[in-house]
Amino acid sequence: MNFNKEYLTAIEERIFAEGVRQKEAGRKVVGIYCAFTPSEIISAAGAIPVSLCAGSQKPIQDAEKHLPRNLCPLIKSSYGFALTDTCPYFHYTDYIFADATCDGKKKMFEILGRLRPLHTLQLPQTSATEESFRYWLNELKIIRSLMEYITGEPVTDEKLSEQIKLYNLCRDATGELLELNTGEYPLMYGREIDCITGAGGFNCDIPSRIRDIKNAAAVIKVRKNDSSHINSVKGKPKILITGCPTTNKKLLDIIEDSGGIVVAMENCGGIKTIGLRVDENSDPLEALARRYLSVPCSCMTPNRARLELIGQLIKDYRIDGVVELTWQACHTYNVEAFNVREYVTGEQKKPYIQIETDYSENDIQQIKVRIQAFLELMGG
Ligand code: SF4
Ligand code: SF4
Repeated sequence: MNFNKEYLTAIEERIFAEGVRQKEAGRKVVGIYCAFTPSEIISAAGAIPVSLCAGSQKPIQDAEKHLPRNLCPLIKSSYGFALTDTCPYFHYTDYIFADATCDGKKKMFEILGRLRPLHTLQLPQTSATEESFRYWLNELKIIRSLMEYITGEPVTDEKLSEQIKLYNLCRDATGELLELNTGEYPLMYGREIDCITGAGGFNCDIPSRIRDIKNAAAVIKVRKNDSSHINSVKGKPKILITGCPTTNKKLLDIIEDSGGIVVAMENCGGIKTIGLRVDENSDPLEALARRYLSVPCSCMTPNRARLELIGQLIKDYRIDGVVELTWQACHTYNVEAFNVREYVTGEQKKPYIQIETDYSENDIQQIKVRIQAFLELMGG
């Protein structure tokens, strides 16, 4: 089995068809853009959560009719798809939960609210205090009530606990898959990880997602004894990608086409978000509030947890070098890159490079030259 675009498309088509079938049967679809909204609450109300973050250059020109050019491409792409009604997932979305994360996103959400009913979750900018936890817990109580209003279904603690367990099973399956890359010879390329874990879309059938991930892991495990696989990865510098969400695959492709192997991705949508389990033994809403508030996104301050996670990943995945991806005009990640560089090269004593780019193809050659020189540093 090859974990490539065809594999991803087949899964996404299946999930999409099932999501549309359930939507037509009366289930509500709720769109989310950031990693702070607990999908468990949406699922507990009987609705379908769907992630709407976008990674394509295509709708950006249309987005720029309303948004400034000098804005992060992720925000412009997400808005452009909604504006032009060219994202099939947005098309089926009844309601949106928007987290007040970075400035660009939260101001874009104000305009997006013209296209769909939208509620902004007022995210505290720190996870370090009990006051911010209480504040966030209250926000989650609001979205629980909103979900009850939207679907007419009570969101009981029992239903929340059931969803927490289910989503945790999915996190566990993903964690076991990712662990296959911690050995001396990684068993998966970053592009494959992206295809297996990145099958986004409607979260309408978690048990089948768990099966997909477990089936993929079973196939990958066999590579441990496959000499042609081991020879193909031997000597390749092991790279950790950190920074902005890898919604666009340009950098991942360049690194692996240039002879590196991306063994782990810390970014949003990667280990930063999928690695965090929800405590199953406390009050379910409080457990969700604690878990989701602890996502080490750069809009949080201080954000030491991100550095600690990077340090742990460097150790666990035997990382040779760290590549930080920052989208142009993303102030929080671009500024935080200073701390990350200092931490990686100082405390961790590993090579580090920051690549600031957008979704266009204009700078591919220039990035290739920089990445090739970086990999050569590590003997790649
Ligand atoms: S990195 Fe932060 S702001 Fe960006 S998509 Fe993830 S949670 Fe949202
Ligand atoms: S990449 Fe940066 S600017 Fe873009 S949405 Fe995420 S935090 Fe905001």
